[in-house]
Amino acid sequence: MPELPEVETIRRGLADRIVGKTISQVEVRLPKMVKSSSPDFVRELEGNAFHSVDRQGKLLIFNLAHSADLSMLLHLKMTGQLIYRHGDEQIAGGHPWPSYNEELPNSYSHIIFTFESGARLFFNDQRQFGYVKLVDQTAVEKEKSRYGIEPLTPAFTRAAFFAVLDNRRTALKALLLNQQLLSGIGNIYADEICFYAGVRPDRKVDSLSILEKNVLFDACQVIIATAVRHRGTTISDYADSSGRRGNYSDFLKVYGRAGQTCLRCGGTIVKTKVAGRGTHFCESCQG
Ligand SMILES: [Zn+2]
Repeated sequence: MPELPEVETIRRGLADRIVGKTISQVEVRLPKMVKSSSPDFVRELEGNAFHSVDRQGKLLIFNLAHSADLSMLLHLKMTGQLIYRHGDEQIAGGHPWPSYNEELPNSYSHIIFTFESGARLFFNDQRQFGYVKLVDQTAVEKEKSRYGIEPLTPAFTRAAFFAVLDNRRTALKALLLNQQLLSGIGNIYADEICFYAGVRPDRKVDSLSILEKNVLFDACQVIIATAVRHRGTTISDYADSSGRRGNYSDFLKVYGRAGQTCLRCGGTIVKTKVAGRGTHFCESCQG
């Protein structure tokens, strides 16, 4: 599943290209992907434009220019991908399979936005858990309120982070993944945050010292900021035809490195399951 840095990268890429561009056609090939009225969805969007693209956690919020109260919410969930193409230019994000470089539309292209400029935006989803929906601002605010504090935003203060950790008996990783408490951190970055902080992902939150909590707070900010700067780990960008990946993958210290040498202490990275998810950490330097 794409995490905050990947979704932020696609948000920035799309905002630069589609804001203010008239949408000439919306093709809904799989109506169940539209979680609001499908005919209304098409009718509102065709001839309209987006005036901005926001994000809350992993949720993309496309605000409509000519229906001030309406926004289109889009969630990629497990296997969603967004591919924008205009001439030779391509930006793509979300799940890396099928390849971003396939001919489009393919059998996973469920919603297709065509802009007057000729640009097209494909919402592909192999497993079809992703969705779009058209909602008013009250619903946008309600949706946003379901998300916890997010690294790199003003609400993510040390005090707020400590309050989230207070009296929790769950495993640290489960808490990091809990979108109602902390927004935008998924499996990859949860492991990297724990490694940065030198804390095992299976530690019970109420066993953490003040020092460890402080380092975890810093870790959330540093890891997410660095990943956003490097455009995440699974994002291709600016059409190189190879579907180049976001280059944060080169910086991963534990995720995907099971059996390899720990870059900090020379120990071995192990892979276990914590909170039901494949989890990577160093048994030697994470306590
Ligand atoms: Zn180590």
